[in-house]
Amino acid sequence: MSTSGDIKVLIVGAGTAGLMLALLLELCGVDYLLLEKKPAFRPPSRACVLSAVSLPLVEQIGLLREIEDISLSARKFRIKRQDNVDGLVGELDASFAEQRYGYPILVMPRPALYNVLLSRIPKNKILLGKRILSMSQSDHGVLVRCADGSTFSGDVLVGADGANSSVRQNLYRQLYAVGTTPSTTLPLPMSVPGHVSEEENRPECAWSLMGITNPMDRNLYVELNQPYSDFVIMMTQKNKESIWFMPTANRRLLWSITTPIEKSGKALCDDGFKASEFGPEAIAEMCAKYQHLDCPYGGTMKDIFDKSPPHLMSKALVQEKVCDRWHGGRTVLLGNACHKFPPSAGMSDNINIVDTLALANRLHELRSNSPQEVRAAFELYQKEREPSARRALQLSKQLHSFFTEQGLMAGLSRKVNLSRSLFGGWDKTNDLIHKDRPQAIFLPMVPQRGEFLRQDPKPSSIPRRSLQKAHPGDV
Ligand SMILES: Cc1cc2nc3c(=O)[nH]c(=O)nc-3n(C[C@H](O)[C@H](O)[C@H](O)COP(=O)(O)OP(=O)(O)OC[C@H]3O[C@@H](n4cnc5c(N)ncnc54)[C@H](O)[C@@H]3O)c2cc1C
Repeated sequence: MSTSGDIKVLIVGAGTAGLMLALLLELCGVDYLLLEKKPAFRPPSRACVLSAVSLPLVEQIGLLREIEDISLSARKFRIKRQDNVDGLVGELDASFAEQRYGYPILVMPRPALYNVLLSRIPKNKILLGKRILSMSQSDHGVLVRCADGSTFSGDVLVGADGANSSVRQNLYRQLYAVGTTPSTTLPLPMSVPGHVSEEENRPECAWSLMGITNPMDRNLYVELNQPYSDFVIMMTQKNKESIWFMPTANRRLLWSITTPIEKSGKALCDDGFKASEFGPEAIAEMCAKYQHLDCPYGGTMKDIFDKSPPHLMSKALVQEKVCDRWHGGRTVLLGNACHKFPPSAGMSDNINIVDTLALANRLHELRSNSPQEVRAAFELYQKEREPSARRALQLSKQLHSFFTEQGLMAGLSRKVNLSRSLFGGWDKTNDLIHKDRPQAIFLPMVPQRGEFLRQDPKPSSIPRRSLQKAHPGDV
């Protein structure tokens, strides 16, 4: 094999991770096919927060301007209590990010991000309505089988199919069968079904109801007329709930209500596997529970729910976990398929995107599809990215408890952190996360920005391609 275009990559799942990988493989000339179970694109109705962790890559692939156009940059995090929405518990400055790491924190509706990514991927490279049921692999290649009876083969399989990944479940079953997966260390539902006892590992877990409003009335919601985004994070008193409001472009509000759940391992497992898609009843039930709460912009939460079209509201299971095993044979996991963080730090998409880049760099460098080379590439990918994922999990957990924990000690610690700037206090973790901002080795590097410099990899000598709009305005 002389060029990297000779291997064929099967990507399962067209979420942020799958789409970004497709786009990068498009750029570096590696052959790929993206298989998505949904019959039509319906991106999750939630926020997406991109920061200096992923924005250097976004700039490198030429999409920064478009991403800025669909976003607002975060200026402040304003913390309130639900029993006093006009008061303020404290305020955090988000502008530190631009000065220290060179890029603002951008908040956008996820569907808008998907549209930008989709517009750069040729239509014939994505097949919709392809739910992967099983996969097999050998020294020669991989084969996946879909629910509609179709099969696809390739050299490498990437499971970018989300937290309930069927690629991961298949892979772990195979690894378990040959005794290489430490089943007892995998919390549910990120586990091998049937191989984890009920008592063990109860990961922190929560429900989240999320939505995106239509553009809000500029006279009633005057705070949304600003050219930047002041997040409002509202804590409820007893239930550790946190309610987030993130203004974004065109006076739209991205919002979420997150509430913890306490369940046995078995119940959690059952919920986890069913929880990938909640129907309208589950959403209506949560809306009914919270609609009476005061809204920090005036009125009640019902006004916010009423302004959010049903197709832009969803309910999801929030989990936290970094899997120990990210690959096996010719199969590799990406994005939420191998790690999931609480959303408070907005880390998931940033880490997903950078993981995707690390994997694309390794696939670009593959010189043959021999099992040894493929395995070495995947080992290097996990070695490069797992420490960042674990740090991101740590930061996400810290922020999650900062915004939700109740009680005297939690209140005191919040006060201390607020008085000296929350992020100043956690610079070390933030710096460690921002140290890993790799660039694509197959594209010209973008200049360093900010006072905290990233470590650039050695550029590749393998020729690259330029990114064209695949189907402009067609999404
Ligand atoms: C409540 C909540 C709030 C969040 N808020 C934020 C936030 O503010 N900021 C942030 O950065 N991140 C946030 N996240 C995290 C973010 O949504 C995820 O990290 C991100 O969407 C994961 O991307 P992914 O591509 O790995 O998986 P997904 O987005 O889950 O995509 C997986 C894709 O695979 C497809 N698929 C699944 N199974 C199959 C199959 N068998 N065959 C074929 N296709 C399949 C699915 O249809 C889907 O399109 C939040 C997450 C939650 C749950």
